[in-house]
Amino acid sequence: MRLVSHSEGIGRIEGDEVALLDLPYRDLGACLAAGGVESCRDATVRKRLPLGEARLLAPVPRPPKVICVGINYHDHVEELRSVLGAFEAPKEPVFFFVPSSAVTGPNDPIYMPEIAPGQVDHECELAVVIGRGGRDLDASTAWRHVAGITMANDVSARDVQAKAMGGQIFELSHAKGFDSFKPMGPCLVTMDEVELPLDLEISCSVSGTEYQRARTSALVFDVPTCLALISRYVSLEPGDVVLTGSPAGVGFFQGRFLVEGDVVEVSGEGIGTLRNVVEPAAKRGER
Ligand code: MG
Repeated sequence: MRLVSHSEGIGRIEGDEVALLDLPYRDLGACLAAGGVESCRDATVRKRLPLGEARLLAPVPRPPKVICVGINYHDHVEELRSVLGAFEAPKEPVFFFVPSSAVTGPNDPIYMPEIAPGQVDHECELAVVIGRGGRDLDASTAWRHVAGITMANDVSARDVQAKAMGGQIFELSHAKGFDSFKPMGPCLVTMDEVELPLDLEISCSVSGTEYQRARTSALVFDVPTCLALISRYVSLEPGDVVLTGSPAGVGFFQGRFLVEGDVVEVSGEGIGTLRNVVEPAAKRGER
């Protein structure tokens, strides 16, 4: 199934339509918390909307946790090495948390933070959504805890990130947790439609120019390995979203940061495209 969250409830994508389902959940997050998305398979349809006109929300608009894995593509390690010199890839997955208030929809604006508008950057990433919670997961069975996959843009303010990495502020999440900095969607592709081992093409373009393209088979640490490690630190809960890391091509290494009016398109094979326009902080009050 390809499932969506919409202001009127949960839907299945059927062809070029969104079939809104007769289920009592406000969004897929509530559905996952209530036991999982299998009820979406046979639910009756109460309304149909043209997919192109449906204003979709992030699949899980307010996840219990958003967990981001960093430095997890070999070409991104090379990119870092080219600037930093002797940079070694992590020996095990490295991760951090961002607030769920940063999550935004697949067609919503990315707002420049007033405090740090100068070095806002994109990172296209495959994301997994937890279906069944757990702790101390075994990598060999970790996929069983995943409800499905979606796309995310791990938008980052690099000047704030530099302060965090230089020890001037404590939290990497300050750089990556601004409101609207985690566009997600457009849909949740349930695991029955996902071929394993995972080998999907992901890409990112900014105002028509492609900056990132990679296959998820090039991850340093695959999804099960990441989930196993993360769940040794924190319990995973239904609706948690784990971003799996960005491949090479982020603006920081291209000398090109996002500017107002840019259209950032993050795509994932079989998942769809996030299309977010960059807007100034001042516009936030108008919505
Ligand atoms: Mg990232």
